[in-house]
Amino acid sequence: MLQLVNVGHKSLADYATIATRGLMDEILRLAEPLAGKRVVHLSATAFGGGVAEINYTLIPLMADAGLDVEWRVIHGRDEFFDATKTIHNALQGSEQGLTPAQKEVYTHYNDLNARDFEDDYDFVVVHDPQPAALAGHFGDSRAKWIWRCHIDLSAPNQEVLGFLLPSIKRYDATVFHREEYVPKAEGLPLAYIWPPAIDPLAPKNMALSPEDAAYIVDQFGIDLKRPLVTQVSRFDPWKDPVGVIDAYREIKASYPDLQLALVGSMAHDDPEGWRLYNETVQYAAGDRDIYILSNLNNIGAVEVNAFQVHSAAVIQKSIREGFGLTVSEALWKARPTVAGRVGGIVAQIQDGETGWLVDSPSECAQACIEILDDPALGRQRALRGKEVVRRNFLTPRLLRDWLVLFNRLVGNDTAGAEVVTAA
Ligand code: UDP
Repeated sequence: MLQLVNVGHKSLADYATIATRGLMDEILRLAEPLAGKRVVHLSATAFGGGVAEINYTLIPLMADAGLDVEWRVIHGRDEFFDATKTIHNALQGSEQGLTPAQKEVYTHYNDLNARDFEDDYDFVVVHDPQPAALAGHFGDSRAKWIWRCHIDLSAPNQEVLGFLLPSIKRYDATVFHREEYVPKAEGLPLAYIWPPAIDPLAPKNMALSPEDAAYIVDQFGIDLKRPLVTQVSRFDPWKDPVGVIDAYREIKASYPDLQLALVGSMAHDDPEGWRLYNETVQYAAGDRDIYILSNLNNIGAVEVNAFQVHSAAVIQKSIREGFGLTVSEALWKARPTVAGRVGGIVAQIQDGETGWLVDSPSECAQACIEILDDPALGRQRALRGKEVVRRNFLTPRLLRDWLVLFNRLVGNDTAGAEVVTAA
């Protein structure tokens, strides 16, 4: 059996004051014909990164809606996660492809995990490429198989994509954050398009007073009298931590007091993380105003919340980004947000309206300087951004989209409940 993840309990009723009445009613209506259906989510890790973040809220809420749902993680060793990280990077556009040995490792671990998977569900939701080849082992499954891709697939390495496509074709449906991520290939199942969401009631996003936030960041050595900018993200080349340091150095010319926090967790399935972490530390060159923190320093959800709340500006300077939950997290806290003009970020920030979209460290610096010069302007945009998040990027909407898809896959009438499919 694959390892089960304990997601705890959440109650839909708690979200009634945040989601609209219409949405809550729709969720209940869509959930009714699915009562007791068995769902399993499969992913590579229960810790670090967006998929884990989403599953910890989505899954307990699916359960509360009446489905019999669980989450299991596949097993693998470094050689497997090295191969899957290469796949991840290649799908986001890196030229480096898979060696024949890596392809074999990928297939081998999927074979092993398939042996440990008990195929006794109505719906199997497979997250990202790591377990994607599992579906091929269950040709006569009674379950509907769905591949949920969280990656920016707008300009993939075609060779690596080609390696995965036969596996993807085996699915009954796919889900992508954006239409431009849907691979252009023959014979793929229908692609559904919806963005992920953040949980407004989770410790990561719950209301935290400025005083409590200040108290928490103070514990990490942040000087409360001086301004702070923060980026929260895994140590990953696509998150460009080095570019953030460049931007910080440029801002420092106008604001010598500035402090920078790079808050990044180490995901279990991310062997590259350590290399990037070390590179980032080296690039910071001992600057005492740069705080490089992670779960190893006891940074958990509440601490991430506090850093976001306490920051004068929140940065997400990604070069590629499937969605970028951190952007919605910052906007939900009404923080002025500066982010890379890439992938799912452009769905969250309207440049000049709800935040700042930037294409370089220098633009990032300029945006932060604008915010530090005129906090009222920053706040105005961030409040508009918060409304966008409220309408589009909170968990009840995500739950609804999944329920629509499940109903459709078993032929239930979902008239009136629309979801976007790729043209
Ligand atoms: N995160 C965290 N601690 C960290 C770094 C990241 O809790 O030190 C969380 C972050 O708050 C967000 C998620 O991990 O909820 C990252 O999701 P995102 O979509 O931004 O990026 P991904 O890691 O999936 O590429």
